[in-house]
Amino acid sequence: MKKKMVSMMLCAVVTAAMVTGCGGKDAAQTEAPAAEAGDAAEEAPAAGDAAEEETSAEAPEAEAEASEGGTLVMGTNAEFPPYEFYEGQEVVGIDAEMAAAVAEKLGMELKIEDMAFDSIIPALSSGKVDIGVAGMTVTEDRLKNVSFTDTYATATQAIIVREDSEITGADDLDGKKIGVQQGTTGDLFVSDITEPERFNKGMEAVMALSQSKLDAVVIDNEPAKVFVSEVEGLKILDEAFAEEEYAIAVAKDNTELVEKINTALAELKEDGTLQTIIDKYITAE
Ligand code: GLN
Repeated sequence: MKKKMVSMMLCAVVTAAMVTGCGGKDAAQTEAPAAEAGDAAEEAPAAGDAAEEETSAEAPEAEAEASEGGTLVMGTNAEFPPYEFYEGQEVVGIDAEMAAAVAEKLGMELKIEDMAFDSIIPALSSGKVDIGVAGMTVTEDRLKNVSFTDTYATATQAIIVREDSEITGADDLDGKKIGVQQGTTGDLFVSDITEPERFNKGMEAVMALSQSKLDAVVIDNEPAKVFVSEVEGLKILDEAFAEEEYAIAVAKDNTELVEKINTALAELKEDGTLQTIIDKYITAE
């Protein structure tokens, strides 16, 4: 109980900092998203990806109506497989496909803008993007700054360690070097225990862990599974932090868009489209 309250408070501080801009961070938006991942990820994206900031998700059927319905701009951080990641120069994944399906229902063309995770809420507030779709957990503090649609997925915060680690659960994390992705709920949970090392990309934290520069990484369970499958010598602990729910974030006052998206989401859940998209990227255990 106490833990939760403390992390909520921390969240408030961090979120406030995000909204008031706190400099520097927004620069990450122009930073080439795929470029650095190259040295970290096994499948190094081509250097050409670097200049690519915007990419349209595939929604061929929507194209005919697109010009009439306008463009739906999605802010994301494409370093979060299986929800959003690069396949060549294109951002793919559960969120990208779900957003394309939502845009299609709205008769709009989806455009994806890749940015630092903690730039997404400021980008919504400033109108730079219309929706934030980034495996984003609904939290009380984020709700002060944005609105969320109905939820579309659940997640937990997983603890990744080296295979030979003596860490067996959250209680062992105190005083250890823990890597997190900046501005995420994992960041907030760990901040409650100890000062984490913050990375812009989850994979960078995972690589630092595999090189013994960290003792553990706390990150959402599905990306954790992908990263551990790609990097030798790591494992995910059975014990995970609290359940979370993902939803699409929208500018706080844009209730009309929230309602439209909720209608589209309900249809996509109802007709099985959402499950088909999820099954394409997450194989059942
Ligand atoms: N679900 C986590 C959060 O909302 C992490 C999301 C992400 O890193 N894309 O903070």
